[in-house]
Amino acid sequence: MPTLHMLGTGTPSPVRERWGTAFAIEFPDEVVMIDCGPAATWKLTQAGLRPIDVGWLLVTHLHSDHFVDYPCLVLTRWDHCVGGEMPLVVMGPAPIREVTGKLFGPEGAFIDDLRARCEHIASKRVHLSRGGTLPRPGLEVRAQDVSPGAVIEGEGWSARCAEVDHMQPYMTTLAWRIEWPGGSVVFSSDTRPCDALVELAEGADLLVANCPLRQGDLHEDLATCIFGTLDAAQVARDAAVERMILTHLTGNIVRECDEALAEIAAVFPGEVLIAEELMRVEL
Ligand SMILES: [Zn+2]
Repeated sequence: MPTLHMLGTGTPSPVRERWGTAFAIEFPDEVVMIDCGPAATWKLTQAGLRPIDVGWLLVTHLHSDHFVDYPCLVLTRWDHCVGGEMPLVVMGPAPIREVTGKLFGPEGAFIDDLRARCEHIASKRVHLSRGGTLPRPGLEVRAQDVSPGAVIEGEGWSARCAEVDHMQPYMTTLAWRIEWPGGSVVFSSDTRPCDALVELAEGADLLVANCPLRQGDLHEDLATCIFGTLDAAQVARDAAVERMILTHLTGNIVRECDEALAEIAAVFPGEVLIAEELMRVEL
């Protein structure tokens, strides 16, 4: 049975209690991350996982609170490779491939870091001490732009995605559904209610719903791009999911969680959880 690690359950605003969005699913043979918000790589280690364990990163969209730790994940993962590891596979909406080139390519932002770690005698010593050999292999990351509807096959799991309504036309946002024999989980990403999400989530065992606000706190401008509690409840009900976890949470919704759960229960009859930082969920 896979385990879901809720690595970051907050919003773009830095607070002590919650960090930006990131999740990891621990399968028997590999770890799949979904989004890579602030400090996701360090949070991964707090969850008992290592960057090198991560084989796949599925990205929902390029808002910084979902993506800003991407260079950290890629660079620390590569730094701990000693040879024979598979490159990290990254799937997300365009222009993720172009962004990856701008970060790690020959003219990329991190080229000096990569050169120094490959060429400086001290870095070579560290690499040898970890079991690596010289010359040190360069960084390879397989980043690919995916279109809505794309299907991905992993070791014992598969994933597909749909475009949801969040920040068009400035960026594309994908919700992801991950399935394995006997189970399924859907990550809504940031979105307002939309048919594509209901269709993607249909009959899923678990919906991880990004729901920053109670419905009464949702200004009409915000309602164009994110969920309120009743929006999440209606999507969960319409998709007939088994249970739902609310994440991407503000302090308000946490402080008023009894009221939030009560208003959701009036619409969606399934189990509803409020995400906690580093919460583990057996899938
Ligand atoms: Zn967003």
